[in-house]
Amino acid sequence: MIPNMKPLLYSFTLPMLKEWMEKNGEKAFRAGQVFDWLYGKRVNSLDEMSNLSKGLREKLAASFSLDVLKEITRQESADGTIKFLFSLHDGHAIETVIMRHDYGNSVCVTTQVGCRIGCTFCASTLGGLKRDLEAGEIVIQVLAAQKALDAEQQRASHVVVMGIGEPFENYDSLLAFLRIINEEKGLNIGQRHITVSTSGIVPSIYRFADEKFQINLAISLHAPNTEIRTRLMPVNRRYPMDELMDACRYYINTTGRRLTFEYGLFGSVNDRPEHAEELAALLKGMMCHVNLIPVNYVPERNYVRTSRNDIFNFKRILDAKGINVTIRREHGSDIAAACGQLRAQHAKQTQG
Ligand code: SF4
Repeated sequence: MIPNMKPLLYSFTLPMLKEWMEKNGEKAFRAGQVFDWLYGKRVNSLDEMSNLSKGLREKLAASFSLDVLKEITRQESADGTIKFLFSLHDGHAIETVIMRHDYGNSVCVTTQVGCRIGCTFCASTLGGLKRDLEAGEIVIQVLAAQKALDAEQQRASHVVVMGIGEPFENYDSLLAFLRIINEEKGLNIGQRHITVSTSGIVPSIYRFADEKFQINLAISLHAPNTEIRTRLMPVNRRYPMDELMDACRYYINTTGRRLTFEYGLFGSVNDRPEHAEELAALLKGMMCHVNLIPVNYVPERNYVRTSRNDIFNFKRILDAKGINVTIRREHGSDIAAACGQLRAQHAKQTQG
């Protein structure tokens, strides 16, 4: 919770809200009604919750905030991608993206204002970490996206926790967020339709495995060996690759779920045929899937793009070694769609 502020009503899971109702002399089922107003009917104020007594609405107003996000900008791409820059109550800016797929609409959410992980290819980490988001501040990103989709009579069917921030560094808020969006009386987004992506915070991978969710986990691997990974992702010094791979195997064995490895291709750094061979050897026998990402050029960084030919060659080598691999389709390449770009542009403009 943000100091000196009432918690967001959106930060409460259904069991938490039921408990609050009972403690405050109300029937537990009122919590379900509140969820329906917030996430089903998607109202913006307590006054609209007409089946709650005035007394209960006053109690809720005294205990909770219903702050929503303020839209700073919205960019729409020719492929339907919508990228929002939102302002939080304290003026910090965050990004949320709607992406279109043949299987539905996915919403990519931010979990922290900035990030302290320091991946060398990422614009979002340049200003460091400002603060964690409260669970409700992550929930209202999905809600805002759903409200935008309501205008098209469409549904946010999938959620990817891949926006700004390292979700496992904000673990408790992440968990509450996942429970809230998964709640049947809420947005009802199925666990198998949710993907959480981490830079490889090893202790949290074990902890997340033990939650026994059916949620998809993606690991930002980006390297076939520990030397290259340290160069791209300094977090590899804290959690070296062999420890990360052990945690990944534990995750697969505990949940029975296939892991995704994200592999961004950076020209001459990790995209050579020998890197593909090494990656195939590293992942041999694991129940996993590799997602190759043609990296968008980040103006603040000097990595060059891998040629189309080299991308397909890299994939061919993995295919031939029996590794399940796809190339990620680019979304919104005509707008500032790479993670952190819109926020970085906004920061530059507001700093004059
Ligand atoms: S890629 Fe993700 S984890 Fe790495 S610095 Fe950027 S926001 Fe943080």
